[in-house]
Amino acid sequence: MPLTLLGRHNPLASASEQLKMLEQPSSNPSFDTQLHRASLYPLRATGISVFQINVGKLCNQTCRHCHVDAGPDRPETMSLETAEQCIQALAKTDIPTVDITGGAPELNPRFRWLVEQARGLGRHVMDRCNLSVLLIPSQADLGKFLARHRVEIIASLPSYRASQTDAQRGDGIFEKSLEALRLLNRFGYGRLDSGLTLDLVYNPVGAFLPPKQEAIEAQFKKELRTQYGIEFNRLYTITNMPISRFLEFLIESGNYDQYMTRLVNAFNPDAAAGVMCRHTLSVGWDGKLYDCDFNQMLDLPVDHGTPSHIRDFEPTQLHNRRIVTRNHCYGCTAGSGSSCGGATS
Ligand code: SF4
Repeated sequence: MPLTLLGRHNPLASASEQLKMLEQPSSNPSFDTQLHRASLYPLRATGISVFQINVGKLCNQTCRHCHVDAGPDRPETMSLETAEQCIQALAKTDIPTVDITGGAPELNPRFRWLVEQARGLGRHVMDRCNLSVLLIPSQADLGKFLARHRVEIIASLPSYRASQTDAQRGDGIFEKSLEALRLLNRFGYGRLDSGLTLDLVYNPVGAFLPPKQEAIEAQFKKELRTQYGIEFNRLYTITNMPISRFLEFLIESGNYDQYMTRLVNAFNPDAAAGVMCRHTLSVGWDGKLYDCDFNQMLDLPVDHGTPSHIRDFEPTQLHNRRIVTRNHCYGCTAGSGSSCGGATS
């Protein structure tokens, strides 16, 4: 049986159903009210330093909290034409970083071409990798490819315990993640002197906020090194966004109201001032433009008169654009905020 919301014909597969839930009347202030109080309304971009490309929803995993509703049954995938438009747009700018995500972005046949083109333009490239993709037979040379192009890897690992990782990401995924991390270490990833960056991302397994990043990073480093001989560079913490499959979990477990109130009470104006949409532009698999990957999944394209497709990309009209905000944005402003510029696949 398919595990995606779409495959299960769950109403929450529809962005409008999710928004209906998120925007329903509540005793909590709306996100925009909170921005007003923090003198940040309307939220505006301050430039574009990250060009994020979501190449599609196909994934070899079906994680419980996936904000993309990705999975093996999702056919949406970026075409070569759209990938070319991305590179043409990038070439018009000096945006330093290209952040490629999915789904499992490496499964898109255009992934390697995008990496090569972006590196050819001298840009830093990040790959949001689910780790297990490195073990698929057709991807046997993926680690070598990423190392050769000096791609930064950002990988999800919600726990150094098998039971918690498998509960969130699927049976057997913890062992596969360890195998992939060891493989990446062999290529030099995560080794201090190699210049090959391997960062991990922690997100809570349940309806709670992440702990302080520094403390949990030290714990992960110790456990992964002593138990498994694995090295990595940094560990980022992210808050689970109340959308898609995590929204389904919140509703089904009776935690939705409590979780939203927790996010609202943890609103941090400093985190709001630094949210990733203020310096990111996100391109969807079909070329539509968004303020971030979360807005992309809620079908909330850039608005307020800016070009909304990559073929019409015009940096001067986008760099100071007004951001489209809704109540899910509370997921970016709780506590210290989410620190890795968005979720991994
Ligand atoms: S969800 Fe997107 S638009 Fe909203 S604050 Fe976060 S990054 Fe910005």
